[in-house]
Amino acid sequence: MKRTIVVGAGVIGLATAYELKRRGRDVVVLDRGPVGEGASKGNAGWITPSISAPVPAPGLTWTSMKWMLNPDSPLYIAPSAVPHLARWLWRFWRYCNATDFLRGLHATARLNRGTLAAFDQLQKDGVSFDLFRQGLLFVFTGQSYMEKVLHEFDYYKEYGYNVPTPLDRAGVRGLEPLVSDWVTTGFHVKEEYHVRPETLAAGYATAFTALGGEIKTGVTVQGAIRSGDQARGVETSAGPVEGDEIFLAAGAETGLVAGHFGLRLPVEAGKGYSITIENGGPALRQPLYLGEGRIGCTPFKGGVRFAGTMELSGINTVLDPRRMVGIRKGVARYFAKPIGATEGNEWVGMRPLTPDGLPMLGRAPGYRNLYVATGHAMLGVTLAPVTGAAMADLMTGAGSAIDLAPFDPGRFRW
Ligand SMILES: Cc1cc2nc3c(=O)[nH]c(=O)nc-3n(C[C@H](O)[C@H](O)[C@H](O)COP(=O)(O)OP(=O)(O)OC[C@H]3O[C@@H](n4cnc5c(N)ncnc54)[C@H](O)[C@@H]3O)c2cc1C
Repeated sequence: MKRTIVVGAGVIGLATAYELKRRGRDVVVLDRGPVGEGASKGNAGWITPSISAPVPAPGLTWTSMKWMLNPDSPLYIAPSAVPHLARWLWRFWRYCNATDFLRGLHATARLNRGTLAAFDQLQKDGVSFDLFRQGLLFVFTGQSYMEKVLHEFDYYKEYGYNVPTPLDRAGVRGLEPLVSDWVTTGFHVKEEYHVRPETLAAGYATAFTALGGEIKTGVTVQGAIRSGDQARGVETSAGPVEGDEIFLAAGAETGLVAGHFGLRLPVEAGKGYSITIENGGPALRQPLYLGEGRIGCTPFKGGVRFAGTMELSGINTVLDPRRMVGIRKGVARYFAKPIGATEGNEWVGMRPLTPDGLPMLGRAPGYRNLYVATGHAMLGVTLAPVTGAAMADLMTGAGSAIDLAPFDPGRFRW
């Protein structure tokens, strides 16, 4: 039986490990920390195929430069990180055009076509996690940004979505009475789901180990064992681990791990922040997107999470309190009753981000048995089941209906 080493017990590594195990592989997952403690932990948990647009978008170059001066802004590039990020940023800004944006949106929307059904199936297969089917309510304090966001839904018609009907103040209030008087408009996307992300990672891990899979935590991958175009294993803090194939899903750190194999994969961290109030906070009827604030609000059982910001400051999980202030101020504007100044559990995580905003899914360039799945940016939870199935199909040689060509890890000349 082929033995696969999976590096990273985030939602992408676990989803793929689970699918490989179901297909009869001997799989061991290695992680430096506990299961699901990276970006897969404190995120908003939205399952939203209708937000398939890549991060680099037309007009973002100028906006991001303006926002660089304001650490409260939804997208913040730390000036001190610019020298290190310069090459990556230059590539990223080159993708901020209409052609690449639409190409990326459609490639991701096609990948996402099976997402909602895949989550339904996961539950039917007995993977246990908190799944909610309440849709997603977009709310705005003005008309112009609402219209811009709504316009994107024209692109999703071919993927089975209806263009949502705009709501006025009373319409929004009818769906979510807790919004403030500032909120004047919005729309409801009824199809979308959300999960409690911690339960998804835990559910995958439990299902994987129940099938006989092995997870080794507290194990840091520090080097590669390779010869020619063959990856033979990894050097770790607990000694060498050998296998027949290696799958890298180390999130924003995948580029660093791939470096041990002599690869240069342009993965950076798009840091995001969240505040979770476990028992209390506004009891929302469904998840809310606070449009101009670019903040996601997600109700869980008895609790609520506010998540947002995209900070480019290198690969680190340093929590910048100014970003938390930005989220709290943003939230306060949209709700009649603001959340407290210090209330809630504050968290920071690294979204794995590529220059074109699309994931890297496939065989690593120059290798026969080394695979990569990362760069899911704002959609790692959403895309976990389809990524896991597509990668497991690729690695086991089974045919797949999913076209992974747009996501080739070798597409960047770096
Ligand atoms: C604030 C915020 C909100 C978000 N909201 C959503 C959302 O609503 N919906 C959605 O779909 N997505 C959302 N995302 C994105 C999503 O969280 C990520 O895309 C996803 O979690 C990435 O999963 P991953 O498995 O690739 O990485 P991670 O979860 O980061 O896992 C990588 C793992 O690799 C391990 N690792 C790294 N280096 C090594 C090493 N050298 N040796 C051993 N192990 C190593 C780490 O310890 C970690 O456990 C959000 C992200 C943030 C930050």
